[in-house]
Amino acid sequence: RTQRFAEMRDRPATTRDGVEIDLQINAGLLVDLPHLEEAGAAGIGLFRTELQFMIASTMPRCDDQKRLYQAVFEAAGDKPVTFRTLDVGGDKMLPYLASVAEENPALGYRAVRLSLDRPALIRTQLRALIKAAAGRELRIMVPMIAETFELKAMRDLVDRELAFLDRHGYEGPSSLKIGAMIEVPSILFQLDQIMPHLDFVSVGSNDLFQFFNAVDRGNPRVANRFSDLSPGFLKALRSIVEAGRRNGVPVSLCGEMAGRPLGAMALIALGFRSISMAPPSVGPVKEMILSLDVGAVSELVNRLIDEAEPVTDLSPILADFARAN
Ligand code: PEP
Ligand code: MG
Repeated sequence: RTQRFAEMRDRPATTRDGVEIDLQINAGLLVDLPHLEEAGAAGIGLFRTELQFMIASTMPRCDDQKRLYQAVFEAAGDKPVTFRTLDVGGDKMLPYLASVAEENPALGYRAVRLSLDRPALIRTQLRALIKAAAGRELRIMVPMIAETFELKAMRDLVDRELAFLDRHGYEGPSSLKIGAMIEVPSILFQLDQIMPHLDFVSVGSNDLFQFFNAVDRGNPRVANRFSDLSPGFLKALRSIVEAGRRNGVPVSLCGEMAGRPLGAMALIALGFRSISMAPPSVGPVKEMILSLDVGAVSELVNRLIDEAEPVTDLSPILADFARAN
């Protein structure tokens, strides 16, 4: 199997009916970087910058952050890298950052909420990113965006750092792209309002699923009670693809479902053409893609999720489809 995936590494991820799918990897530490080449991925669709903070015993300084980001750029070569700004709080606590116990940490003081509240923290990170990106394209992605004002506030911070570094004679990035993670349901209903202010979006299906179904993703008593291949959730995902098309904004997805061949199949059926996953998933997902008929699976999935008689979980139907392919 491993041998087979290695042989597929340099083949583009093109479906049987000729649709090219952009497969990227999720990463977060230096040890992840060799996987980019090994998996034959097209880029890093999600770089979880909080991991450096989580394994440190004291707050990483600007220079430490910059060094990591430079190493990431170096390893990526010409391939794009999407850096997610700090996604701490909730279940990702930093021992050296004072915190207050919360009744519902997943719904609490975390991600962009914490960043906007602690401008020194986020400005240091943005400064490290901009310095590391000298002469290269910088893609910054903001987690847990629930309202448009959060994005505007983050963009203001980025602009201030760019101006600051420019005044001090630093070479800026060759281009700057700012994106948002779509992982809070409120933003699903404001996609046409926020997309004009975005260069790209990536769906965080892990958190979106958790909030969409009101199930704690880490609680085994409820986590498997609902399927991410249910008509309701798939319709939500389809609405993001459609909004992306309407607004000319590239849409990707970087949650765990992209790494399951059936999950990836459903996403492609809904119109996703770019997905990002844990490195070991690239081989199995690419294998699925090479034999996939997008026309047929799109027809099937769209028909099922629009049907009046609902199915609660498309998994068995998609598994049958995959076997018949
Ligand atoms: C997600 O929520 O789907 C995601 C990719 O981010 P994380 O799993 O790090 O919250
Ligand atoms: Mg998330």
